[in-house]
Amino acid sequence: MPIDFSFTEEQNLLRDSVRAMLDRIATPEYIRRCDQEPRYPSELYDAFVELGLLRMPFPEPVGGLGGSVIDFAIIAEELGRKSYDFLGAYGTCVFNGLNILHNGTEAQRRYWLPQLMDGRIKMSISMTEPGAGSDAGAMRTSARRDGEHWVINGQKVFSTGAGAERNVINLYARSKPEGPHQESLSLFLVDKDTPGITLRKLDTLGRRALGTYEVFFDDVRVPADRLVGEPHKGWAYMLSGLQLERLMTAAGYSGCAQAAVDLALAYAKERRQFGRPIGSFQSIAHLLADMQTAVEASRMLMWRAAFQLERGEDALMAISQAKLFGSEAYANIANQGMQIMGGYGYIMEFDMQRHYRDARATTITAGTSQMQRNLIAGLMGLKTK
Ligand SMILES: Cc1cc2nc3c(=O)[nH]c(=O)nc-3n(C[C@H](O)[C@H](O)[C@H](O)COP(=O)(O)OP(=O)(O)OC[C@H]3O[C@@H](n4cnc5c(N)ncnc54)[C@H](O)[C@@H]3O)c2cc1C
Repeated sequence: MPIDFSFTEEQNLLRDSVRAMLDRIATPEYIRRCDQEPRYPSELYDAFVELGLLRMPFPEPVGGLGGSVIDFAIIAEELGRKSYDFLGAYGTCVFNGLNILHNGTEAQRRYWLPQLMDGRIKMSISMTEPGAGSDAGAMRTSARRDGEHWVINGQKVFSTGAGAERNVINLYARSKPEGPHQESLSLFLVDKDTPGITLRKLDTLGRRALGTYEVFFDDVRVPADRLVGEPHKGWAYMLSGLQLERLMTAAGYSGCAQAAVDLALAYAKERRQFGRPIGSFQSIAHLLADMQTAVEASRMLMWRAAFQLERGEDALMAISQAKLFGSEAYANIANQGMQIMGGYGYIMEFDMQRHYRDARATTITAGTSQMQRNLIAGLMGLKTK
């Protein structure tokens, strides 16, 4: 396969304009406030809307800008350079919206997508439950049809951004009490303020700006037209969006990891011990060389996957590899960055500790490293059960 990662002039302009907007709003102080208070990055979200970033990945007939997978990955990488949570705010809305585009009815596309693109609503995703993590098909939250409504009962956990203002939860639930999960789940769009819903924010090590929530559903009634597409097809809808979601996460990890290397590098050039910059010690210089090489390797895997997906090829292997490698590279780099910064890396006034905390989640979320390895090994013809 020829490898050509060249970007068009428009794509270079897109990168420049996203970077300029981020430099203006997502200053180091802003990133720290969002993490430490913690608070939702609302000002930044408004800027996404203003710049048309939420319209970018949607096709023109539904009011989008007709952007490509590559455009989406460019935006994701830039957001990651500031904070993985900022990408979470953007990306979760986009891939849930794309799910409606691909799997919803015409009426659902017309109702939901304009509101999402112009910032009137946000979207979060609720798959995980206390008893259903990596084994998402084991979910028990139930949806029972009652006339023109569905009645939902159960509990979700780790629903990132669920508490954001005007958020719509993309909820996967069992719409058939029995049967294989491939034929028993449906996807519902549920306003987070619907009576019967209780949200509880979890106290997490990192990724604190958006927050991740437990969501309890107690006889929650949602109108029948809130079921996306057709009943009992939720599993297929969920899988249809996973590749883009994982590509987005991998693009974000590359941006995050580069930011952590940049911090460590600047520190190594400035910090002096034994009369010289610590970056002139070979052990530190080589560590930084390895860290930058790992970032480039993450980016190469990610861009290869992005171009494959863009060309409509089966990109499952490439995306899983990019997600696996990118997350582990970011976690290692944040750890090494702390070592380079010595005691200062460990205090809250310096930003490496946020990378260290945020990076720790990357090998767990969007499919753990073990699950990625299972998948890759499976594609290599190995059974790992
Ligand atoms: C910050 C954060 C944000 C999140 N956001 C969301 C969200 O917005 N929406 C949502 O639905 N979920 C979200 N999640 C949940 C996330 O997807 C799950 O945590 C993840 O899928 C793992 O599930 P679990 O935590 O139950 O771990 P488990 O599945 O219990 O896994 C525990 C350990 O066992 C390993 N393991 C499990 N099964 C296998 C196997 N077959 N082979 C080998 N090893 C295995 C895992 O790799 C892991 O190391 C989020 C989680 C976090 C931490």
